[in-house]
Amino acid sequence: MITYIISDIHGNYEALKVCLDDIDQSPDGRIICLGDIVGYGAQPNECVDTIRERAELTVMGNHDASAIDDKSLEYFNQYAKEAMLWTRKTLRPENLDYLRSLPMTRTLDNMYLVHATPHNPEEWNYIFYLSDAELNFKAFEQQVCFVGHSHQPVILEQDAHSKIYINREGSTVIQDDGKYIINAGSVGQPRDLDPKLCYCIYNHETGEITLKRLDYPVEKAQGHMREAGLHPFLIERLSLGR
Ligand code: ZN
Repeated sequence: MITYIISDIHGNYEALKVCLDDIDQSPDGRIICLGDIVGYGAQPNECVDTIRERAELTVMGNHDASAIDDKSLEYFNQYAKEAMLWTRKTLRPENLDYLRSLPMTRTLDNMYLVHATPHNPEEWNYIFYLSDAELNFKAFEQQVCFVGHSHQPVILEQDAHSKIYINREGSTVIQDDGKYIINAGSVGQPRDLDPKLCYCIYNHETGEITLKRLDYPVEKAQGHMREAGLHPFLIERLSLGR
């Protein structure tokens, strides 16, 4: 069994298409989505339509939440807010209903799935420091927790003595006595200074977890954003990966 984990698509259908093409050319598996299907990008309906069709399971991201409810909009910066107001206007009613139906967290076999953090997921916090990681390793029972939200792919490993290691190699092999928090990175808006899209592959037979990077037609995604009248700041950041 293989699980393909995708996250933070953010209305970037050009990136999503390349990601799914790559998955379609890989061994059969299931696709799960860690949320933020919309926000920032110019093709929210195309992205939600595709995720509804392709993902076996999807959890809610903070941008998905703010597309259907004002509460989380107050934490957005000016550009994110502007793009979200445009996204709300653009999303078809059935796609808004779909976003409304998304759960905050799910478990699947040995995996715990959440957009932001297993500890108080509705607060949309980040895991940036070791202290954040310590708190969050205590907040789930399963062996592997997949998160998105920061748009920065990383593998956090906790050994049998509760020592935490930060692995930036882009791959690991699951150990029986280890526990893991994996940030699957972002398909539609990478922010680790690498504009390539990122997604994650989990091979349950071998225990291998890989963060995969791929080029996609950034200029095409930027063209759609220009046509939609989205802010130049959001358009430019795609080519910078930040
Ligand atoms: Zn996001």
